[in-house]
Amino acid sequence: MDFSHYSDQPVQIAVDLVNTLDAISSEEKLTSPEDVSDFIHGHDGDWCKPGWKADESDLEEVKLLRSRLRQVFDSADEKEAAEVINSILSDAVAVPRLSLHGEGPHLHFETEEDSPAKWLGAVTAMGLTVALIEGGYERFGRCNSSTCADVFVDTSRNRSRRHCSDTCTTRENVAAHRARQRKEV
Ligand SMILES: [Zn+2]
Ligand SMILES: [Zn+2]
Repeated sequence: MDFSHYSDQPVQIAVDLVNTLDAISSEEKLTSPEDVSDFIHGHDGDWCKPGWKADESDLEEVKLLRSRLRQVFDSADEKEAAEVINSILSDAVAVPRLSLHGEGPHLHFETEEDSPAKWLGAVTAMGLTVALIEGGYERFGRCNSSTCADVFVDTSRNRSRRHCSDTCTTRENVAAHRARQRKEV
């Protein structure tokens, strides 16, 4: 069965959602229901388009989902990560649906009628499921910078990724270079 539908954008949605809360500085990007609506609309792309407007309870539910997604990355091993993913899938009522929109019949697992948190839960947990099956749990990472704990899923060929973004890689390289220079002086 082809789950490639869930391999790119949904993984990015999961990563971006976790990173809306800075785990070190506690800086919060989801401060209002509008932020949740904006997050979804900013991420659906050519993905199915849910037209929700989030309210206060959606905001709280999405934050709860976010902390569980974070747990997937903070898990000790694959087994623990799988348990968290499975509980999200179950709570989001992620059940297979035959969908006829777009380029032909295919499967979707997320609700289109329920709530932003359930939609996000099914989409992101399916994305992480496919990422774990195809790449292994060792590809789930946390930024190695001392000032950042953002998460990422490493899609590099040689599994060499250590930082969440180019910004962090550059900053750490510059810091390491300066440290070396100080030693040499
Ligand atoms: Zn579709
Ligand atoms: Zn980082």
